Amino acid sequence: MKTYKASFLLILMCFLCTFSLAQVTAIKAGKLVDPEAGTTAVNQVIIIENGKIKAVGSGIPIPPDAAVINLSNSTVLPGLFDAHTHLCYTNTPEQRNQFFIDMTEPTAYRAIEGTKNAKDMLETGFTTVRDVGNNGRYADTALREAIENGIVPGPTMINAGRIIAPFGGQYRLQPDRPELGNPEYLFADTHDEMIKAIRENIQFGALVIKIVVDDQKYIYSSDDIKFIVDEAHRAGLKVAAHCMTTEGARNAALGGVDSIEHGFRMTDEVLQLAKDRGVVLVGTDFPEKAAEYLGQGPEFAKFFHGVFLDRLKRAYRVGITMAYGTDTFFAAPGETRGTLAISYIDTFQEAGIPAKDTLKIMTTNAARLLGVEKQRGAIKPGLFADLIATPENPLDNIQTLKHVSFVMKNGKVIKTSR
Ligand SMILES: [Zn+2]
Repeated sequence: MKTYKASFLLILMCFLCTFSLAQVTAIKAGKLVDPEAGTTAVNQVIIIENGKIKAVGSGIPIPPDAAVINLSNSTVLPGLFDAHTHLCYTNTPEQRNQFFIDMTEPTAYRAIEGTKNAKDMLETGFTTVRDVGNNGRYADTALREAIENGIVPGPTMINAGRIIAPFGGQYRLQPDRPELGNPEYLFADTHDEMIKAIRENIQFGALVIKIVVDDQKYIYSSDDIKFIVDEAHRAGLKVAAHCMTTEGARNAALGGVDSIEHGFRMTDEVLQLAKDRGVVLVGTDFPEKAAEYLGQGPEFAKFFHGVFLDRLKRAYRVGITMAYGTDTFFAAPGETRGTLAISYIDTFQEAGIPAKDTLKIMTTNAARLLGVEKQRGAIKPGLFADLIATPENPLDNIQTLKHVSFVMKNGKVIKTSR
C-alpha cells in the first residue's frame, strides 16, 4: 500500500513539475511589424507559451520564470512564406534533365535532399512553405511528417504529392518508355482518372492538389479543371494550377482554381478575370540572377526575367491578390535553397511594388492561400509563434529580409545570431 502511495505521490509531483515548467518565453521587440496593416509598433513584448503567442503589446508584464529574448535592436515580424517550392528536387548544371534525375535518384535520396533544403529555407526565415510536387514517390509527405514529428527542422509544409496532368505531364515522352514520366506525375485525362489521381494523392498525404494545365498541345479545359476543383474541394483541399499559356490561365480561372502558378503569359484581361474570380497569383517572379542559374545563357535569363517582371508590374496594376512563391528547384554556387528563395524580392523591388505590399504578399496573403491564417502568418494571440527578426525594418528596406538574424518556429528558437 505504501508503495502505491509513494508511486502516486511521485506521479503527482512529476505532473505538477511538468505543469509548472510550461515553457514561457518573452520576446522584447524594439520594433514589431504587422504586415496586414503595414504598420510598425515600438517597444513591444511578445509572451509565448507552449509554442503559441499568448499576449502582444507594450508594457505587458514579463512572468518571472520566463526565458527572455532581447530583440530590442531588431525588427520582429511574422515568419515568411514561400508558396511554390520543390524541396525534394534539385536541378544541377550536371543534371539538367529531369528524366535523368528520375532514373538516378530514388525517392529516399530525394527525401534526404529535401531535408537539407527544408532546413536552409527555415534558417533563411521561411517558416511555412507550400511544396508543389516533383518529389518522386511522396518524399514530400515523408519530409512533412518528419518535420511535424520534430525529427528534422523545417518549415510547416503544405504538400502536393504527385502533380496531376494530362498524359505526358511536363515531358515529351518516348513511346518505348512511356513510364519514364513517373513517378513525378499522375497522368489523368478522363474524369475517372482525375478522381482516382486526387484520391490517391490524398491517401498518400497530399494537403493540396497541384495540376499542370498546359504543358502539352492538349490542355485541360475549364470543365476539366472545374471537375478537379470540385472533387478536391469536397475533400477540403485547394487546387494550384501551373499555367504557361494565356489560354491555360483563362481555363484555370474559369475552372475556379485557388491559385495560378507562374502565369507569365497572363494578359491584363486574364489577370482581371482571375482577380474577379478570387484566384490568387503565385507568380514565381524570377530575378535575372536566378534565371541565369537555369543554365540557358545570359540572353535567355534576361528575356525570361523580363517576361516575369512585366507580368508582375501588370498584376500589381490590375490588383489581383498575389502570394510569394519562388519555384527554386536549382542549385547555385554559394547559395542555399533559402538564399535563392529570398532573392526573388529583387523582382518585386524592380517592379516598383512598395515594401509593405511585398511583405503582405510574403505573409498575410500566402497564409490565406495556404489555409493556415488561423494558425500562422501574423503575430497575434492564439497563433503559433512563427517569427523572425531583421536588422532594419523591412517596411523601410525590403532588402533587410536577406539578413534575417533570428528565426523562431512553433515557439522554438531555430536561429539566433546575437
Ligand atoms: Zn514549380
